[in-house]
Amino acid sequence: MSGNIAVNLKPKVIHVRDLTARCYVLRVERLGMSFRAGQSITLGVRRMRVNREYTIYSGEQDNFFDVLIRDIQDGIVSPALRRCAPGEELECAGPYGSFVIEKPEDTSRRHLFVATGTGIAPFHAMARTHPNLNYRLLHGVRLLEERYDMADYANYVACVTGEQVGDFRGRVTDYLKQHPTDPQTICYLCGNGKMLSEAYDILRGQGVPSDQLHVEAFF
Ligand SMILES: Cc1cc2nc3c(=O)[nH]c(=O)nc-3n(C[C@H](O)[C@H](O)[C@H](O)COP(=O)(O)OP(=O)(O)OC[C@H]3O[C@@H](n4cnc5c(N)ncnc54)[C@H](O)[C@@H]3O)c2cc1C
Repeated sequence: MSGNIAVNLKPKVIHVRDLTARCYVLRVERLGMSFRAGQSITLGVRRMRVNREYTIYSGEQDNFFDVLIRDIQDGIVSPALRRCAPGEELECAGPYGSFVIEKPEDTSRRHLFVATGTGIAPFHAMARTHPNLNYRLLHGVRLLEERYDMADYANYVACVTGEQVGDFRGRVTDYLKQHPTDPQTICYLCGNGKMLSEAYDILRGQGVPSDQLHVEAFF
């Protein structure tokens, strides 16, 4: 478990950084909240009285919170957060979750991170917080433009389905089938439920024990 006690805060928006037509990074005040890389917070626009969970994208050492958000067409919270002006006060609670690295300082422990879309968020926080972490990150995207902040990772593989380019053409699950994982590897999977259950089964089939498989579902 995280060990951090959840608190309620009212941070102000610092800015919104657009990445693509559908995705952006929202930066808000941290207000001293402690967290571990991989954990999430809830965020909402105050007048709407509805919050959603977002994984913290920034590092433990940063004095702000970044979150990477997909702007869901017809969604309630994700488009509203994008429209926020600097200085607007939000509802925020957290931190939540136990999707964290157990011994980040042990560089002999090999990690495999598997993400689809904005499921890359916890791995951004982990890579930023623990620069010596021994990992490979597989990122499933439809288009090359969805390789959000790819320069921030030491070992990044884009698995691209919608264009004939990228490090690997196909889904992350195709990559996993074609590149068997050493059963000693500690695996973290984050994104949509269908990918998570397929990737989990593939990795179990390759001999990775269930206590080395950590899963975080966004939807
Ligand atoms: C632990 C946790 C952490 C999360 N972290 C993030 C994060 O870091 N970034 C992020 O963008 N979302 C994240 N989510 C999803 C987020 O909480 C919301 O579900 C999402 O922003 C949609 O909310 P909405 O009110 O705009 O749309 P709603 O009206 O609530 O949802 C519309 C539909 O959008 C789909 N959907 C939800 N999230 C996504 C997504 N990320 N990509 C594609 N389709 C989606 C679902 O099918 C959902 O039913 C996380 C969810 C959980 C449970």
